[in-house]
This record gives sequence, structure tokens and C-alpha cells, in this order.
Amino acid sequence: MQYRCPKCQSPKIMPVAQPGQAAPRPVVPKSLMFLVPALFLLLLLVIISIAMWIFGDGAGTTLQTATVIVFILSLIAGFIFYKDLPDFKISMQAFMQTQKKWKCRECNHEWEI
Ligand SMILES: [Zn+2]
Repeated sequence: MQYRCPKCQSPKIMPVAQPGQAAPRPVVPKSLMFLVPALFLLLLLVIISIAMWIFGDGAGTTLQTATVIVFILSLIAGFIFYKDLPDFKISMQAFMQTQKKWKCRECNHEWEI
């Protein structure tokens, strides 16, 4: 089982949906769906805070409170995701193994396992 394109050795491969066969989907843990937007929001708040420190007289109290709350939420989500990780890995591996048809995004080469 290889996760690289056999033609150009690129790791940028994607599964191809097979007609007449329900595409298996890996089970994505809810904590990940929560963690990703939380991290984006945190990054956004941090950037706004830094911008306000540079261009103004510091981030406002509301913004600081929001940043701290989002940071704590990200930590909690990160911790739950860390606990979900083993299950997620098994689910991903099962998905990779059932997927027979692959396509390379670099050279458009298609192959079957
Ligand atoms: Zn390729």
C-alpha cells in the first residue's frame, strides 16, 4: 500500500469516486470539526490584537476577553481531539485501504491498487 503517485512520486494524491459504489468516508471526530474553526478564530483574534497593539493603543478589554475564551475553548477541543486521535487514525487507515482508485494531483495520473 503506497500513498504516493507511482509515476511522479508525489504525495499529493486523492481518492477517485467509483461509480456504483458508495464512497466510504472516514469518520471525522466532532472535536476536530470544533477544533479547526476554533483555531482559525483564535488566529484571527490574535492578528487583530497585534494589529491594534501596533496601530492603536492596545487591544480593547472585550477583544482580550474574547481571545482568552477562544484560547481556552481551543485547548479543550485540542485535548478532546487528542483523545479521539487513535480512533480517527484507525478510521482513516480503514478508509485508505478500502479506497482502490487514486488520482495524482500533480500529473493527473490515475491508477488502481
Ligand atoms: Zn503523479
